[in-house]
Amino acid sequence: MTDYIELLKKNDLKATIQRTGILKSIDNAGHFSIDEIYEDVKEHYPTLSLATIYKNIILMIQQGVIVEVPINGEKSKYELKKDDHIHLICKSCGKIKDKEITKEKEQILSIENFQITNAQINLYGICKECQSKI
Ligand SMILES: [Zn+2]
Ligand SMILES: [Zn+2]
Repeated sequence: MTDYIELLKKNDLKATIQRTGILKSIDNAGHFSIDEIYEDVKEHYPTLSLATIYKNIILMIQQGVIVEVPINGEKSKYELKKDDHIHLICKSCGKIKDKEITKEKEQILSIENFQITNAQINLYGICKECQSKI
């Protein structure tokens, strides 16, 4: 399990109960929208408001602890910062899977006269579970 206290400190953030709660919630889910985080965190910390969660998320994005994942036509999701990877997003159930960028990395991420600092690649389709329901 990730040490959220250490993770926050490493990125110059005080480890508050709210922040570790939010990180734990996101980490367990993989990718979570603000509403999903709120619903989840509320169970353990009923006094926590949506505004407080939002403020903490913005702060943790600025400090590089979490990353926003914008999704076409939907609310953004958030995830813990990881190596660059591809998102496989199911248009039917909305599930997001991470796919590592492995051997193609150099080819995909090498563009002339453009220095890439970070990459977010979203692929939309139908996941395996939903395919079997058709
Ligand atoms: Zn699906
Ligand atoms: Zn991801």
